Amino acid sequence: MNTLHNLFDSLKEFDTGQGTKGGFYSLPALEEAGVGAISRLPVSIRLVLESVLRNCDGKKVSETNVRELAQWQPKAPRTQEIPFIVARIVLQDFTGVPLLVDLAAMRSAMVKLGRNPKLIEPLVPVDLVVDHSVQVDFAGTADALARNLAMEFQRNGERYQFLKWGMQAFDTFKVVPPGIGIVHQVNLEYLAQGVLSQAAGPNGRSIFYPDTLVGTDSHTTMINGLGIVGWGVGGIEAEAGMLGQPVYFLTPDVVGVHLTGALQEGVTATDLALTVTELLRKAKVVGKFVEFYGPGAAALAVVDRATIANMAPEYGATMGFFPIDEECVDYLRKTGRSEEHCKVYENYFRAQGLFGIPNKGGIAYSTDLELDLAGVRPSVAGPKRPQDRIELGRLKEEFIKTLGRPAAENGFGKTADELKRVFPVLDGGTMAASGGSQGPVSRRHSLEQNTNPLTELEMANNRPTPDPAPALAASPRGQLHHGDVLIAAITSCTNTSNPSVMLAAGLLAKKAVEKGLKPNPMVKSSLAPGSRVVSDYLNKTGLQPYLDQLGFNLVGYGCTTCIGNSGPLAAPVEEAVTKNDVIAAAVLSGNRNFEARIHQNIKANFLMSPPLVVAFALAGRVTIDLTTEPIGRGTAGRDVFLKDIWPGQAEVRDAMHAALKPEVFRRLYRDFAAQNPKWNEIPAGAGQVYQWDEQSTYIQQPPFFENFSLQPGHIAEIKAARPLGIFGDSVTTDHISPAGSIKKTSPAGNYLIEHGVHFVDFNSYGSRRGNDRVMTRGTFANVRIKNLMAPGVEGGVTTFQPGGETMSIFDAAVKYAAQRTPLIVLAGTEYGTGSSRDWAAKGTRLLGVRVVAAQSFERIHRSNLVGMGVLPLQFKEGVSAQTLKLDGTETYDVLGLSDQLKPRQDLTLRITRAGGRVENIPVACRIDTPIEIDYYQHGGILPYVLRQLAGANPS
Ligand code: SF4
Repeated sequence: MNTLHNLFDSLKEFDTGQGTKGGFYSLPALEEAGVGAISRLPVSIRLVLESVLRNCDGKKVSETNVRELAQWQPKAPRTQEIPFIVARIVLQDFTGVPLLVDLAAMRSAMVKLGRNPKLIEPLVPVDLVVDHSVQVDFAGTADALARNLAMEFQRNGERYQFLKWGMQAFDTFKVVPPGIGIVHQVNLEYLAQGVLSQAAGPNGRSIFYPDTLVGTDSHTTMINGLGIVGWGVGGIEAEAGMLGQPVYFLTPDVVGVHLTGALQEGVTATDLALTVTELLRKAKVVGKFVEFYGPGAAALAVVDRATIANMAPEYGATMGFFPIDEECVDYLRKTGRSEEHCKVYENYFRAQGLFGIPNKGGIAYSTDLELDLAGVRPSVAGPKRPQDRIELGRLKEEFIKTLGRPAAENGFGKTADELKRVFPVLDGGTMAASGGSQGPVSRRHSLEQNTNPLTELEMANNRPTPDPAPALAASPRGQLHHGDVLIAAITSCTNTSNPSVMLAAGLLAKKAVEKGLKPNPMVKSSLAPGSRVVSDYLNKTGLQPYLDQLGFNLVGYGCTTCIGNSGPLAAPVEEAVTKNDVIAAAVLSGNRNFEARIHQNIKANFLMSPPLVVAFALAGRVTIDLTTEPIGRGTAGRDVFLKDIWPGQAEVRDAMHAALKPEVFRRLYRDFAAQNPKWNEIPAGAGQVYQWDEQSTYIQQPPFFENFSLQPGHIAEIKAARPLGIFGDSVTTDHISPAGSIKKTSPAGNYLIEHGVHFVDFNSYGSRRGNDRVMTRGTFANVRIKNLMAPGVEGGVTTFQPGGETMSIFDAAVKYAAQRTPLIVLAGTEYGTGSSRDWAAKGTRLLGVRVVAAQSFERIHRSNLVGMGVLPLQFKEGVSAQTLKLDGTETYDVLGLSDQLKPRQDLTLRITRAGGRVENIPVACRIDTPIEIDYYQHGGILPYVLRQLAGANPS
């Protein structure tokens, strides 16, 4: 923002509260100029409008864009795209490393073109939080945090070295090192400012503007709880955003959710978030903004709003937004933002007419929904989808029903008799991988343990590298049943950012210990908060020692179980599960529970509040009605019920006084490097251009710019494509590009072994996203993916045509590539649902897939496919691979593609059956916007941006 415009006389001043005036682009002035009835627009739309107005330069953002958005109509057809220039970008390390790899590859390509590599530079601030890599290798012991952190550094040193190279090579790229927290919680507690300013114009005066962002993680929406516009995008779009391209999105519908009433005693913010998820999934809010308002919204604390906003991807919305009000100012103040800043923040939004939660009738929404908070009941969600809410008292009954339902109906396909079966857990020798002992011996540390987060971090930094395959000191023995809980994890920023539910877990643990309840040795329990502030208040309130006694020792400050880094179970337990196909359960305070997401061998995964996680860990099974049956026997063999140990709202409130202390936030969020000597020890590298190491199994130069020319190609019809896979409904990005562990016998496993990597050092797919060789082999390699071309087989397998030979998807893709055969993927509804994952699109592209034809697409994945130059096609209503009786023996042509292609144009999918019969099927081209046509023509966003930058700056 170097030159200031004054379009519609909208450049105004406001009182900063510091005795100075600040400049801003005024939305009320835009309304006065007659551009639109702006004060009736949803708050979220107005915040985007401010960006469009401020960044209007006649090139990337035009006056027409401003007018169109200012005249947003609640129920109009949506055809216009909005160019949204965000104020900043957040990344987590799984997505951030490959993004930095791409930037490094673009710099290398610039050098090859004879241009200045510094032309590739983020134009907006980028913050990367290293949170996704820590795994729960060790749990249930006092030193679990230190040992997991040491293991993390051992596994990821090479990636971290690369990140440090990025920090010195790019001016606006900052890293929050491992062991500090989870990206969305760190964003909420520290990175987010609410309002930003920049010196602009000839006199260098400050122009203030709302904090807005995109993040390479679906749950970026958590920041909507603080009145900040932001959502998850694929790494590909984030790269474009960093390089000065607007993030384009179709003008959204905005669903207004009018909240009334208040939560009842015994009901948590998590219960509310699960209820909202169920309600909004049913209301079909995919691709829409959701805005919460009304007295119920105003009465919620920011941390409760953030829990609800976090789950926007689960209800399918682009955002789950809460407007700005006193609660937001109060949160900023309590989390250590300066008094001056809080004043500017409040004054700015007051000047914009954006301060205060609207009431009914104030704003015209596309759809109106109502929710009375008093009607929310204690709930869990699962066993496979976050929107499948179950009232606590019905869990037992629902689990039993699901157990008996056939697999085709999303059940587990067991008979009623099998519920009674008992599976012995035999004593084992050693763990398959590392740590994870859950035996009583590992739990002997308790009240006397020092759990000060800084001390433990320092301990970790000085600790010798752990033995990667330590002997299991005390393997659990006993019996397993379907429905037994094997993992209980207080995990995920969804809940760990909310002191009310974290303190409730601590209070429940305290009462449980006092009543004499004992931990269940079969359950792997863990506590992984999203910031060290949580440990500070759990220690100050004296609650952490009780959690420790029940096995919920601190295991790390990162995503852990939420991202599937739950680590191994004790070997005998795992063996009993896999050998007998036991439908075991995980209980976790996360937001996702898709198959194989939490742990490869745990099929029933239930989301719930942290206190319920502790309760189910104690009960040891989900086949229990906690509202009527005792959790267990306490002192003197007395039955203890959930109601006996459930903390009251007043108790939680009292404990909360210890939680949000500004000085704690200021102390824990400063000078990260000094707090983390292990990070300091990692060499940073030097130079503007990365020196690629051919031997590295973590970082490789991706082939996106091989044979790159400054001229894009033409859009042409696709002929004689072969199907690589035919999939059913709800194939997730995790099915397409898993984040979790790498199977030894998979193509990626073979590659790593061939490159000298031992199985114990495989690490996860997520941590290997800087290496396209691993990731391409890992595409469609989720152990639970079902390719209908290879019926009855789970995992990344297909049949090669013609001939029908069964082989891995990667091997088939290599064979097709050798024959120059283009590939197509066919899928059902909600293709690409789940976390935003650029490798789901990149891997698809690198396997040689040119087209994905589905019944419907998840928003981010569809745009990522286009961003990688892959064509998304959508079948017309009522048409699917099943109705067409496709079996994979066909060939496919896409007809109607040319340089004149228009967004959402109808095309023809010509299917030629093995017997020669030909059918022409009309399909919609899901390239949705004009800029996407450009991306597709250029072969993706990256080549597009590179050509723009290189073309604009000739050598
Ligand atoms: S804790 Fe879970 S939701 Fe939060 S950033 Fe990590 S993986 Fe995403």
